[in-house]
Order: sequence, then structure tokens, then C-alpha cells
Amino acid sequence: MKKTFITIIIFLLSFAIAEEGMYPLSEIHKLDLKAKGLQIELTDLYNPNGISLIDGICNVSGCSGSFVSEKGLILTNHHCAYRAIKNASTSENDYLENGFHAKSFENEVPARGYTVRITESYRDVSEEVLSAISDDMSLAERTKAIERKSKEIITQVEAENPGKRASVSEMFIGKTYVLFIYSYLKDVRLVYAPPRSIGNFGGETDNWIWPRHTGDFSVMRAYIAPDGSPADYSPDNIPYTPKKVLKVAPEGVNEEDFVFILGYPGRTYRHRTSHFLDYEYNIRMPYVADLYQWQINAMEEISAEGRDIALKHLSKIKGRSNVMKNYRGKLLGIGRLDLVEKKMAEERELQKYIESKRKLKKEYGTVLQEIGDIYEDIKATAEFSLILGYFTYSSDLLSTAYRIYEGSIELKKEDVEREYAYMSRNLEMTKKKISLTLQDFYASSDKILFRDMIERALDLPESQRFQAVGDVFTKDNIDTKLNNYYANTNLTDDDYVMELFGKTPEEIAEIDDPFLQLAVKIYPYYQKQKEISKERKGALDQLYAKLIDVKKEFMGADFIPDANRTLRLTYGNIRGYYPKDATYYYPITTLDGVVEKTTGEFPFDSPDKLVKLGKQKKFGKYVHPELGSVPVGILYNMDTTGGNSGSAVLNAKGELVGINFDRAYEATINDFAWSEAYSRSIAVDIRYVLWVLDVYSGADDLLVEMGVN
Ligand code: ASP
Repeated sequence: MKKTFITIIIFLLSFAIAEEGMYPLSEIHKLDLKAKGLQIELTDLYNPNGISLIDGICNVSGCSGSFVSEKGLILTNHHCAYRAIKNASTSENDYLENGFHAKSFENEVPARGYTVRITESYRDVSEEVLSAISDDMSLAERTKAIERKSKEIITQVEAENPGKRASVSEMFIGKTYVLFIYSYLKDVRLVYAPPRSIGNFGGETDNWIWPRHTGDFSVMRAYIAPDGSPADYSPDNIPYTPKKVLKVAPEGVNEEDFVFILGYPGRTYRHRTSHFLDYEYNIRMPYVADLYQWQINAMEEISAEGRDIALKHLSKIKGRSNVMKNYRGKLLGIGRLDLVEKKMAEERELQKYIESKRKLKKEYGTVLQEIGDIYEDIKATAEFSLILGYFTYSSDLLSTAYRIYEGSIELKKEDVEREYAYMSRNLEMTKKKISLTLQDFYASSDKILFRDMIERALDLPESQRFQAVGDVFTKDNIDTKLNNYYANTNLTDDDYVMELFGKTPEEIAEIDDPFLQLAVKIYPYYQKQKEISKERKGALDQLYAKLIDVKKEFMGADFIPDANRTLRLTYGNIRGYYPKDATYYYPITTLDGVVEKTTGEFPFDSPDKLVKLGKQKKFGKYVHPELGSVPVGILYNMDTTGGNSGSAVLNAKGELVGINFDRAYEATINDFAWSEAYSRSIAVDIRYVLWVLDVYSGADDLLVEMGVN
């Protein structure tokens, strides 16, 4: 009895701490932030009836950012602007390597495909969304009805609010839905990027690592049409005036200072069960980490052929390396903490509680078991679904062909019945993304990656065969066939590809292009898989909704929903931690540390000028009085995840003191479980940002514009 009690207490405690962190706007008023250290009014932070800090916060193509001038200047990460910097770079004008500074508005470079969103308002639409489902629907029908209803709401809201974007976000799985309305800007430009050896100092070696010395920041700008409406790039466009400009605080922060972040965390999975975690830990993440490692090696080998070739692969390599290392960190952390077993123990306690009450047993008795059964089902064909998931993605040409064929089918449907990518509101962006993909196409690497996926598909066990691939390729004919594929396709021609949008499925199927032909053959497999996923989601929606209800009752507590790319607040303190026995990590790194870490060898090859300025102690006004150097990185116990990259780190007065860009290695498992002991996130200190702009780059124009000079 005593033991059970203790276990329950541990369970409750672990939830009470671990579940807290990324607060939706609707929950902020419940927090006593003043007691934690906030020195401004809550309405200064979020005010649905007036201007507040959230009006100065934006989402930059999946990252976060903040407005720091009346003329739409945005501070975000170097790695968030990476694609734009890379796209603007050539071997002659290598902005990625050497940095970029547009000294006038005209010299700013359009960041094609980038968008900026600002949260305008939100409203709970759970009742409306859930009114679309009924008991007589099949599981897949339920999922489709919810999707359709969400699209109807979005379409209607956007029609009523021209120029705005709407989105219905699932908060608690199968249970709560919130409609968000965003301002949506489509002309975004690159203003400043430090050289790679500052913006990505330490490269992959230091990624997800503390102590950190990376100047991971960049400056962008949002534009609108002269009449004030959001518009695609045009030289006539004018800088956007944000409702709120964040004040930059050159004095920075100190250890233990109160800080908070408003940003757009991507996804967390803390409310999922042990079955999900087990699948991630034992199957999905190891598979993807190994696959990516293989692909990265292959692309790096080819990149050695020359800078222009390397430029075509850099984004792909960076993206995959980031995920791979994140997964390796997670795998290590889950193993070390025995997290799957811990979750199972929590679920056993919950089950005992359910079974101790007749009413609960009747309603919830089989919920965990049923969720487990669905994951067993997923595991049974996991290899096949993983290959299916990564098959088209391995080749730019196959993914383009697939999009064209899928598009031809989707475009025949009513708008709200289409997949999101092909709804009229998204079609232009989908095409733009295809163009950008093709811009990085490089035949020999495409062929190598694609070949590997074909082999993997051919190696699938008999029970999980990907027959469409087996019908075309055998182990013996792959090379001949592939040579033929790449010699006889026109899909490398962007204009031709764009023309194909608008053709019927029958017309596409008639075209004598090997990639299109293959896309037609594999399409039914994806449709079938999609149907299965919708059926599973229909089942899981109901089960997870019940699980949350009973968990709440068991714990007598309320939770906040997992991160889902919507605006959240997290708060905490600048704080170090003990990563291992007898080792304490201090939470501030300095320019002295950058100089110390510089070996001259990639990726620790700081520019000579920076080393010289550092050695001469040219710290300007950015010096930390006690540390006697310019602070570079700061560490804190705030709860963040991917998508929080670029978030403004704000001090007690709501002023900008850093730009969040990463987490410590142990904190990669934040997505499954958060802990005060190891969950630490990393920002570039504003003093380093300003020092690089001012002392290193002489970018006075930007300092003046930000109001710090
Ligand atoms: N550096 C991270 C990312 O790339 C940010 C994070 O996940 O904490 O997504």
C-alpha cells in the first residue's frame, strides 16, 4: 500500500513538473508570472484587446522570429535563414561562407518560399469541429469529417478576412480544436547574415551541445504591397510596419535572471503512451537516423567535387544531420532514463486506478490496451511504411513526379476535399516549393539516394512487399534502368513541370517519362497507406480523448496540450546544470571561449578578424562586467523544441536579450519528457549579436534601425 502511494506521488510529481512548459495563450492568465519574476503587466505580454508583445513575435517559415524595427526588420537564427542565404549564394558570391550585409533596401535579397505569420486571434472551435462526426461513421470517415470541417472553417474565415490566414489546430488529440487567425506576409528578404564560421561555428560537432559558441542569428525583413496588403515579392513593395516592435536590451542578462520566450514550438509527444514511445525508440528513430547517416555520407562525398555542387547539397545535408543527431540524442536519453519502462509503470498505476472504480472501469478499462493494439498493428508493417514514407523523398525527380500526379487527381476534387497542398490557397506555395527543390537537383546524388531506396524496397520481407517497385526493378537491372530513367526525363525543366500542373490524371499517365510512369504505379500504395493512417487516427482520436479525461481525474490536475506549431509561452531562468557526475555547466559562454575553441580547422575556423578583435579585447560596450568578455551563448531551463528556433528570449521587462536556437544534448528528449535536471535550451546572447553587427561587421545602419546606437 505504502509503495503504491509512493509510486503515485512520484507519478504525480513527474507529471506536475514534466507536463508544464509550453503554455497556449488561453492558459497564460492562470500563471502567476509576476511571482516568478515578470516585471510587466500580463496585458503587456498578451492583450486580445490591444497591442502587446505577441504582436511583435512572428513565425518565419516554421521557425520563430521577432520584429525589431518599425520597418519590418526581423531577428531570427542563421539556420532559419540558411536556405535563403544558400539560394542567394554562388561559388563567386558565396554569402553562406563569407556573410551578407545589404547596405540598402534595394540590395536585400528575396528569400523565395519564405513566409511570415503573426498571430492575430484565436477561438475555440472544438464543438463546431466535433459536430462533424457521428457514431455511425467508420474510423476513417471520422478523420475525414474532422479534416473537412476544419478546411470549411478555414475557407470561410479567410473569405471573411481577406489577406489573413486561418488554421484549425488540434490541441488535445481528438478532443479540442482552436482556430487561429494570422497576418500572413509573403515577401521576405535577407538583410544580414554573419559568415558561416560565425553563424554556424562548431557546425555539426557542436550542434545540440553546450557549452556553445555559435553566432546563430540573421536579419530579415518583411514587405507588403504599397496599399498595405500582403503580396508576393515585387520591387514596388514597402517594408511592413509591425504593430509592436520589441525593444532590444544591450545590457543582456545574468545567471538566474528571469526570462521567457514567446514562440512557435513544433511538436511534442508527452501525452502519448508508452506504446508510441516504444515504437519511436525501437523502430522509427533508429531506422531514420541510420538512413540519414547513409544519405549524408553519400552527399558529402559528392559535395567534395566543387563548391557549386556542394551548395546544391548543403540544405539537405544540414536538415538531415540536425534530425539525425537529435534522434541519436533522444535514443541515448530514452535508454539512459529507461523512459519506456517508466511510462509503462505510470500506465500500470493509471490502469490500477481505473480498475478500482466500477464506473471508470466500464468507460476506460480497455483504453490503454486498445492504444497498445493499434501500435502493435503499426509495428507489424513498420518497415514497409517507413520505406514508403522515405521512398519518394529520396529523389527530387520522383517526388516532383509524385506531386504532379497526385496534384492532377486532387485538383479535380472540390477545394475542401483536397489534400492541403493542393487547396487553392496553397497551390502557388506548393509549386514554389517544387521549383526550389528542382533548383537543388543534382543527378548523380539523386540517383545514388534513389538507388539505395529501391534496394531497400526490394529487400523488404515477402509479407511486406512493395510490389510496384518489384515490378519495375530487380537487383540485376537497377543500374541499367536508372541510367535510362535519368537520360529520358524532362522533369528537370521547371517550366515544363509547371505546365504539367493542370493536366488530368489520364494525360499525365500518358506521358512517356519514366519518373511519371513510376509515380502512377506507386500512387495506389500511398493511397492505401493514407486510408489506413486515417483509420488509425480515427481510432486513436477517440482513445486519446478518453485517456486525457481519465488521466485528469486520476491526477486531479489540468494539463496543457502538446506543442503543435501554435504560439506558446515558456518561462524560466538563466541556469546551468550537471550533465554528469561532478561536472557543472555554467550558463554563459564568452568571446574568449570562441577564441579558445578556434583551431583554424573547419568547423572551428573563426574568421581571423574575429580572433584578432577578441584577442585585442575590443569588446565595445557589450562586455559582461564580471566575466570580462562578450557573452556569446546563454543557457536556461525553459521548455522549448524545434520551431522555437529564432524565438526572442525576453527579460523580466519583456526586452530582447537573446535568440533561442538549440538545446543541450540531454534536452533532445524534451519532446517526450521534460525535466528540470536536464532540460536546457540555448540562445545566442544579444550582446554577441550586437558585437558581431557592430564591432565585427560595422553594420551601423542596422544598429540604428534597431534603436541601439
Ligand atoms: N536547433 C533546434 C532545431 O533545429 C532547435 C530545437 O529543436 O531546440 O530545431
